[in-house]
Amino acid sequence: MHPGENRVPVIPDVAKKLVRLGAEVTVESGMGAGSGFSDEEYREAGATISSDRNTLIGSADIILRIRKPALDEVSLMKKGCIHISFLDPFNEHELVKALQAQGVTAISMEMIPRTTRSQKMDALSSQANLAGYVMVMLAAQHLPRIFPMMMTPAGTLKPAKVFVIGAGVAGLQAIATAKRLGAKVTAFDTRPVVAEQVQSLGAKFLEIDLGDTGETSGGYAKELTPEQIQLQRDAQKAVIAESDVVITTAQVFGRKPPVIVTRDMVEGMAPGSVVVDMAAETGGNVEGSVPNEVVDVNGVTVVGQGNLANEVCRDASQMYAANLFNLVEDAWDEEASSFKVDFDHDILPGCIITHDGAIVHDTIKNIIEGGA
Ligand code: NAD
Repeated sequence: MHPGENRVPVIPDVAKKLVRLGAEVTVESGMGAGSGFSDEEYREAGATISSDRNTLIGSADIILRIRKPALDEVSLMKKGCIHISFLDPFNEHELVKALQAQGVTAISMEMIPRTTRSQKMDALSSQANLAGYVMVMLAAQHLPRIFPMMMTPAGTLKPAKVFVIGAGVAGLQAIATAKRLGAKVTAFDTRPVVAEQVQSLGAKFLEIDLGDTGETSGGYAKELTPEQIQLQRDAQKAVIAESDVVITTAQVFGRKPPVIVTRDMVEGMAPGSVVVDMAAETGGNVEGSVPNEVVDVNGVTVVGQGNLANEVCRDASQMYAANLFNLVEDAWDEEASSFKVDFDHDILPGCIITHDGAIVHDTIKNIIEGGA
């Protein structure tokens, strides 16, 4: 268990489904406490409870978890063990090499291909969706104003102005949540296809001509050139200055997030305004944001909290556990009553990083073995 992490990879309902599938499920004692699931509930679901973490890791055929394993845990794993979790394989080179050397089949939840069929296993989306909601809650909590317009005998309060930068899964949910609270919302994304989705939520799409931006075949944004980033910054400056809240969710898959809100833009906002930087932990979209801290920049509150889905850990656990179960069920070989590592499967090869002593994911292999 990771300090401060209250989400769990398996909730009691999912433990029951795994048992029904034919798996023998053991849960680490106290695992669900942070999300309000007791050992007793897991026991009733058909799971066994154990406090002997090392033995559990050393004996499991399949390990289901949220976060990547610690390096010293990898050496405990059986050869052929299937480990499924977020893995951060673009950055965790030592860990990937250790999993390879140990002969572990490591499946990375962030690498699940984003196809229509794999949506039910897409943990990046399920957690980003909740993160979008949480960012608006954090902004509302720190803003010394309300979001909706209020007409009262004591006067009229104008709706808060919210600017959302990056309208992927998290950004769209942030837009929808801010709209539900009555804010006036503007959004921008480098993928032009997003404009219609933003407008259908009742928000305004900020048009910026950046030239060719496009998206990858996987639906992700392409990295902008330094000139395009500068164009974007210039065009957003005025909108940021008049916003009460700025929420940034801009990511480029497998790369460091772009810095799109510079310190002078933050300083140009009215005192009391709030900026929430979803990317703070991975380098930041906002200059001056500090990972996991709330800082004051010239009277503007800049929130750099990470692990946002953890704030709504009960729902986040339910969704993540469903993602994991759907993956396991899809790969389950009923006759053998085990997870089948099948390289002809339409989803698995895209997310298996190591198998049988090799790095089998081409992109990750090139980065790690090519030294990129
Ligand atoms: P993400 O977390 O990688 O990025 C978040 C957003 O930031 C993206 O919309 C991206 O275009 C945007 N962005 C990048 N650079 C930017 C910049 N400089 N300024 C403003 N915005 C910038 O993406 P995500 O939210 O995980 O998903 C992106 C897209 O992938 C989705 O909108 C969708 O089209 C696709 N998707 C498909 C499926 C599926 O079909 N199963 C599931 C999930 C997502």
